[in-house]
Amino acid sequence: MLGTSPWSLRVTDDWPEPVAGFGQVIVRVRGVGICGSDLALLSGRRRAPAYPWVPGHEAFGDVVAAGEGVDRARLGQRVVIEPNYPCLKCQSCLAGLTSLCPDRVIVGFTAPGMLARLVAVPAPFAWPVPDDWADTDAVCLEPLTVALAAIRRGGAAPDARCLVVGTGSQGTLLCAALAAHGIKPSVLEPRAGRRELAVSLGARAADPGDTGFEIVFETSGTEAALTEAVTRAAPGATVVLIGLGGEATAVNTGLVVRHQITLRGSLIYDHPRDFIGAIAAPVPSPGRVLRASYPLEQAAEAFRAAGEVPGKTWIQVT
Ligand SMILES: [Zn+2]
Ligand SMILES: [Zn+2]
Repeated sequence: MLGTSPWSLRVTDDWPEPVAGFGQVIVRVRGVGICGSDLALLSGRRRAPAYPWVPGHEAFGDVVAAGEGVDRARLGQRVVIEPNYPCLKCQSCLAGLTSLCPDRVIVGFTAPGMLARLVAVPAPFAWPVPDDWADTDAVCLEPLTVALAAIRRGGAAPDARCLVVGTGSQGTLLCAALAAHGIKPSVLEPRAGRRELAVSLGARAADPGDTGFEIVFETSGTEAALTEAVTRAAPGATVVLIGLGGEATAVNTGLVVRHQITLRGSLIYDHPRDFIGAIAAPVPSPGRVLRASYPLEQAAEAFRAAGEVPGKTWIQVT
């Protein structure tokens, strides 16, 4: 668990064991992936609502108990957790846009996270995954679903000229997801290791003068990257914004107007459609983006190193 000072993560035995409430399952966590938002929390750039705090939201594991109202057939299933629980009652939720729910519980940020041996999860948010999926693919399903939702919202056609700006772990998963849609994206990424990983997953490095992209995905949230995204977009293009930089960024509105570019924000995914889609039409071997794994005892080292490793880092809990 995480203390009040940055990076003060330690493994502890004195955290209360979860009990399955009505409609919940208890998941014995097998692994947790690390993403940029976790690093913001660990470094203190983002604050938890209380300390000590349990971080982590990209988890998978096995259902070991089920509360009242849950089908007993769920026991023993290997599941991936969808770590955003919308209210399912508000106007946005009723319209199917659960990612816009103002009362959404954000696991790891507004509710304690999943980097624990046992966690309680609302049963519909614990998604069974096929037996033939490797654990390394299961641990990537949540961020992969973020990528697939961005592709769905952007309306990427298979023959579209596509650019991905920034290939951290989210951008790299986006490349794998686009490749599964029959699209070979170009990538803009200053760090050679990250760029090479994206190329190994089916992307190509963009040339300095490459423009005219019909769909552009911006994953970093920085002003320089947004400028590249808009400048390289074709007239009539859609620029899908996934990166949450935290600071307001300027954009060349003259160019957006003259080229009639659509700027489309994309935040996480909508329940339940995007997880259903990600499981029903799996992207081949998303676990290829994993480049480092650590045991739970070395969780603190895992978070410290994660920002420097191209691709994704995960923690093996059991
Ligand atoms: Zn994440
Ligand atoms: Zn809602």
